[in-house]
Amino acid sequence: MKEELLHFIWKSKILLKNNLILSNTKEVEIISVGTLNYDAGPDFFNAKIKIDNEILVGNIEIHIKASDWIAHKHSNDKKYDNVILHVVFENDKPIFDNNNLPILTLELKNYLDPKLLNKYKTLDQTKSTIPCEPIFSLPNDFKLNAWLDRLVFERLEKKCIQIEALLKANNNNWEQTFYILTAKYFGQKTNEQAFEWLANNLPLQVIAKHKDKLSHIEALVLGTAGFFDKKLDDDYLQFLQKEYMYFKKKYNLISIDKTIWKFGKMRPSNFPTLRLMQFASLIYQSSHLFSKVLEVENLKELKEMYQLKHVHLIHLSELSNHQFSAIKADLGKQAIYTLLINTVVPIVFLYGKLRFDDDKCNKAINWLEQIEPEKNSIVAFWNQLNIKANNAANTQALLQLKNEYCNHKKCLNCEIGFHILNQN
Ligand code: SF4
Repeated sequence: MKEELLHFIWKSKILLKNNLILSNTKEVEIISVGTLNYDAGPDFFNAKIKIDNEILVGNIEIHIKASDWIAHKHSNDKKYDNVILHVVFENDKPIFDNNNLPILTLELKNYLDPKLLNKYKTLDQTKSTIPCEPIFSLPNDFKLNAWLDRLVFERLEKKCIQIEALLKANNNNWEQTFYILTAKYFGQKTNEQAFEWLANNLPLQVIAKHKDKLSHIEALVLGTAGFFDKKLDDDYLQFLQKEYMYFKKKYNLISIDKTIWKFGKMRPSNFPTLRLMQFASLIYQSSHLFSKVLEVENLKELKEMYQLKHVHLIHLSELSNHQFSAIKADLGKQAIYTLLINTVVPIVFLYGKLRFDDDKCNKAINWLEQIEPEKNSIVAFWNQLNIKANNAANTQALLQLKNEYCNHKKCLNCEIGFHILNQN
């Protein structure tokens, strides 16, 4: 038996189905289970129970054994003075309060449904990546959709925390923050750190001075990325190298070490050299990107902003020994969607949140709801279990569910877990 299950049983009101008899043989009616306390002190505050027509309001403490009250040293702790009911799995010892009066105790041992205990055991002990898979069952659509809505907000909030830290590190400069966030996305997981360093070493103010000339931006990006540290044969690269050397001196730029860029086990379409050229193209075609993103009203316009029109590939072969000419230069539809989901939506949501601007928050959510569902193994898995994702808001919710709940076996805090355990 685990205490978290007893908490769940108390909180979920499963007990209300039973006629509950206390240790003093009196019947108790639970009117309100109270509010869960996340801090030190009793487990639930302000519960309401009825015994012999008398209503008691106070706190609830839950333990596996009654004797845990003594083991946890509650006897002389003032925080526990207002406990009106001690809920235990096993009443192994009479417990008394500071005035030496017996504390009312409810022993759950005989009230717990063996089916519920078996299901909990499955959730707790299974090796399946989704612990509830062997006993899976879905709540009704209304409850499931409400749960997915909550999860998508949780995921957005998590991303907002990371962006807020980035915003702080950049002195509340939204444009610079968005620029770094976008750069990190271009690096994807493998080269995320390298792209972040690149963006930190190449400030937006420097780029802004060259916003009308693509070759200047390419020179700044490839040079700061460290690719111009050797003699090059390609004419165009030689030209960019020369330009970069001049800018480097002029703006005191520091190149990063090119050995940090990872090419291994990667499709050529994800090679960092290509990604750097795409990044340069995006910066060139959209200065003040964050301000533009804030102004855009519909998803179509937003997508158009990320359709890259000026990516130079032909010269890149020398930098990574790969022929780029056969590769699609611009970002595909899925790549644009991933970028919107991971950069645009969370930063616009955060901007709205910090400025109490509900329109911006709603706009970000609406975009998410209009973007096609993501395709990945986690979404496919949920699909097999009959949870169909209609849009990216749903897929983001499902990622949150898997990563933050299933992976940590937080089934007792999950609406699906609640439904499974409560089902007959
Ligand atoms: S957290 Fe929810 S969905 Fe995930 S395994 Fe547990 S009950 Fe199932």
